[in-house]
Amino acid sequence: MSIIICQAPRFPIRRILRCATCKTRRRMLVVDNGWYGTSITCCHCGDTWQDGERALRSNKRGWRKEAAAKATTGWIEAGTYDPAAHQAWFEHQMGYET
Ligand SMILES: [Zn+2]
Repeated sequence: MSIIICQAPRFPIRRILRCATCKTRRRMLVVDNGWYGTSITCCHCGDTWQDGERALRSNKRGWRKEAAAKATTGWIEAGTYDPAAHQAWFEHQMGYET
């Protein structure tokens, strides 16, 4: 019998980091996207950075509140960081499982 493990192509991670927009430490949702690098979203202002560059801001009214709420939900759902699970996920994404 074989077991098929479905893994999401994204690995969310909780972090407390300094937000360049808020100019203070904030809860930040870090999402490892495997081949596509990492994105970081501030749970307070909703700004996102990818590969060190701030992502384009939406011109939609109320986007900050929406983006911050979405990041907060992801931050809560990410739970406690498990480095072993992250490593296993990453290796699976890269296709070099042993
Ligand atoms: Zn911020």
